[in-house]
Amino acid sequence: MVVPMANPKAQTDALRDEIASAIDSVLESGQFILGPNVSALEEEVPAVCNSRFGVAVNSGTDAIVIALAAAGVGPGDEVITTPFTFVATTEAIMIVGAKPVYVDIDPRDFNLNADLVEQAITERTKAILPVHLYGQCAQVERLEQVAKRYGLKLIADGAQAIGSKHKGKGIGAFGDAVTLSFYPTKNLGACGDGGMVLTNDPELCARAKSLRFHGQDSAYSYQYVGYCSRLDEIQAAILRVKLKYLESWNAARIANATYYLEALRDLPLQLPVANSDNYHTYHQFTIRFPKRDELKAKLAEMDIGSAVFYPSPLHVQKAYAQLGYKEGDFPEAERAAKEVLSLPVFPELTSSQREQVVEAVRKCVQELSS
Ligand SMILES: *Cc1c(COP(=O)(O)O)cnc(C)c1O
Repeated sequence: MVVPMANPKAQTDALRDEIASAIDSVLESGQFILGPNVSALEEEVPAVCNSRFGVAVNSGTDAIVIALAAAGVGPGDEVITTPFTFVATTEAIMIVGAKPVYVDIDPRDFNLNADLVEQAITERTKAILPVHLYGQCAQVERLEQVAKRYGLKLIADGAQAIGSKHKGKGIGAFGDAVTLSFYPTKNLGACGDGGMVLTNDPELCARAKSLRFHGQDSAYSYQYVGYCSRLDEIQAAILRVKLKYLESWNAARIANATYYLEALRDLPLQLPVANSDNYHTYHQFTIRFPKRDELKAKLAEMDIGSAVFYPSPLHVQKAYAQLGYKEGDFPEAERAAKEVLSLPVFPELTSSQREQVVEAVRKCVQELSS
C-alpha cells in the first residue's frame, strides 16, 4: 500500500534509540514484573487522563474485565452497553459472568445513545459501559447523572481515547473507572500487549491491583479469585518513552482529520462529527458512505488503505446469539456497520500521503455517486 491504514513501525523507528536504551535498562535491572517502570507509568498515564489512580494490566480487554470485577459486577448482573464496538467490550462483560444489555447508538457520533439508556434499566442492572468510539467521548456527563440516579456503576471503555477530553476534562475524570488499551495501533501503543484501569476510587484501585495479581492481598494470601494480568516492565518502559510524544501525536491526528474535513466537505458522504464539548483525538477518521464496499475496493485498487470498524454489530455475532437478540433490534448500529469506512489518519502520515488519500476518495466517491 502506498498509504497504509496504520504504521506502528514508523513510530518505533523514529524512537529506536530511546526505546532500545529503555529496554536495556530493564534487562540490566533484572526486574521484569511489577517494577519501577510499571509504578511510574501508573502515575504518568492517570496524570494525562485526569484520574487519580492507574492499574496497569496485560491488555485493554483485561482492563475492562478487571474494572468490572473490581466494581463488583458479576453473575446475575446486567450491564448496559453498545453493540457497535470491538468485541472485547461485550466479551469482558460475559467473562465476569454478567449479561450485556444493548442499546442502540447515536448515528451522528456512533456512541451509545444516552437517550435510550434509562428505558433499558431493570432491577438487575448494575453498570453502564459506554465506549469512547474512534477517539470521541461518549456522553459521559449525562450517563453519570443516570448512573447516580439509579445507583449504577459507570465504567467506560476508553481503549480508543487516551488524551481525549469532554468539557476540557480528560476521560479519567468521569465515572467509576475508565479502561485503556496499549495495543500497538492505539494512540499510545506498546510493542506488545498492555492496558490500564483508571479510577478516582481508592477502593476500586486496590481491588483492581489485587485482581490483576491472582486476588492476592499479601504474600500467598488470596481474598478474591483473581487473574494473572500484569503489565511487564519492558512494555511499561517502552510506553513511558512513547507517552512523552502522545500529545504531539494526537495533535498530528487532529491536523490530519482537519485537513480531510476541509478537503472532503463538498462530497456526498457523511464526515465525522465532533461534538462541540469534545476534544476528539481521532483514533479513527470514519466516514459513512452507502456504497462503502465498492469505495473500499476502489481505494484498494489505487493502493490506498482503509478499514471497516466494525463490519458487524455484536448482537448478530454467533458467539453472542445466546443473548437472544436478532437482526433489526438495533437499526442504527446495523446501518453504521454497513456504511462506515475509516481512512488513514495515523500521526506519521505525510502530507503527500494525505493528498493522495483525498484525491483517491474524491475520484472514487464521484464515480460511485454519478
Ligand atoms: C482495542 C480495543 C479493546 C481491546 O484492547 P486489547 O488491548 O486489544 O485487549 C477494547 N475495546 C475497544 C473499543 C478497543 O478498540
